[in-house]
Amino acid sequence: QGSPIATVNPYTGERVREFPALSAQDVGRAIDAAHGSFPNWRARSKADRGTLVQRAGRLMRERKEELAHLLTLEVGKLIDSSRAEVDLASDILTYYGEHGPELLEEQPLPVPEGTAVLVNEPLGVLLGVMPWNFPLYQVVRFAGPNLVLGNTILLKHASSCPQSALALEQLFTDAGVPPGVYTNLFVRGRDVGEIIDDSRVHGASLTGSERAGVSLGEIAGRNVKKSVLELGGSDPFIVLDDHHLERTVYAAFLGRMGNTGQCCVAAKRFIALADVFDAFVAGLRDRMSEVRPGDPADPATTLGPLSSESAAELLMEQVRDAVDKGATVVLGGGRPDLPGAFVEPTLLTDVTPDMRAYREELFGPVATVYRVSDEDEAVALANTSPYGLGGAVFAADPERARGVADRLEAGMVWINHPTASRPELPFGGIKRSGYGRELGDAGMLEFANRKLVRYV
Ligand code: NDP
Repeated sequence: QGSPIATVNPYTGERVREFPALSAQDVGRAIDAAHGSFPNWRARSKADRGTLVQRAGRLMRERKEELAHLLTLEVGKLIDSSRAEVDLASDILTYYGEHGPELLEEQPLPVPEGTAVLVNEPLGVLLGVMPWNFPLYQVVRFAGPNLVLGNTILLKHASSCPQSALALEQLFTDAGVPPGVYTNLFVRGRDVGEIIDDSRVHGASLTGSERAGVSLGEIAGRNVKKSVLELGGSDPFIVLDDHHLERTVYAAFLGRMGNTGQCCVAAKRFIALADVFDAFVAGLRDRMSEVRPGDPADPATTLGPLSSESAAELLMEQVRDAVDKGATVVLGGGRPDLPGAFVEPTLLTDVTPDMRAYREELFGPVATVYRVSDEDEAVALANTSPYGLGGAVFAADPERARGVADRLEAGMVWINHPTASRPELPFGGIKRSGYGRELGDAGMLEFANRKLVRYV
């Protein structure tokens, strides 16, 4: 079961390095160490823990080139995007190292007499299960805040980015985080259940597919353990008018094509009002047709491979299903004649509810554009998705856009900007996109025991 834990270059298909999975005994020892290190870690001051996390942020920036090349090697990310990911991940560590202690301050509660305070205490050992699409960012947005809070962490990374996983563990070690406080676990999906079942583990956070999230949530639930799930999305990107259309089209392009489309908050369903539909489709087609596939390590390349051959095949099945059922291919629709896991930038219209592309997440450079007659229809279509992660609304009048934003079933809506992630802002969704938040004060407190202390 599960893929081998290995670096396979998605541009060349070459298997670069493989790592054995840990035995059950090794996993037991890692849990022991994480559990054993918790009392001392918790006893240190928040400021002290924050200083170490900030140091990890600084080290990450110092190692930028080395880390960026690793990301490009393991997941095929364009080299400039890899560098941008290192910057964002480093900013997150720095931000929570610096501001985390304030976000964790105890909070006085209004009571008629005496005193009541909410104190934020760590829970203990947490398990993080993370995906390959942003190998550094996904980990630090869970680990950074939780290390400052005082939890200790076991990290099961995606099997396809083991060297990034090791580099992260090394980073925390080099920053001075004590042994057992952050431990990388080379385990397979099937071993995750036993870790959550262990009474020394107090919570779990997963970012990844709905399938993996359902499995983890079920196991955590039956163990009465807190979980946070950040699953897929099929974010709407709603265009209400032609105000600054060129800028809107560029935002659409970035929103869809960033990370070769493999982003949970990528804009995946473009919904344009009839007046602007034709111009929007033409503009997006022109932009998307400019990208050039090639070696992701070459800064001149503008379209990288998908993370794996199986990801490319899955996306092509979804495209073929739509085309077979009558979707119009405005651009692309196939695979370029290259050895890597490439899919052509593809733009589809006339997508209907019987097609997989209508309801499933399209994890790659494939955009669908829908024509609607008014705002009500745009909102209704946006909300038909089983997902509810992010969304974006573009309009000349920000208040008009806000009216639409308020009616979207989503955890995050950006106005006149593609949905994005910033260190200080909460991130997460509703519906099949999961529950809980990462980042922001909400994320900081997901795995806190918000303990009431009452003096009378
Ligand atoms: P997975 O959900 O399989 O992988 C994410 C993480 O979950 C990996 O660490 C994986 O381990 C682990 N995992 C897999 N199965 C289980 C399980 N049953 N219990 C616990 N952990 C598990 O994603 P895929 O790589 O298969 O991608 C498939 C689809 O998921 C994508 O096409 C996309 O739609 C969505 N996805 C969404 C992401 C997001 O950012 N929200 C990120 C990545 C994927 P291992 O690698 O060992 O299998």
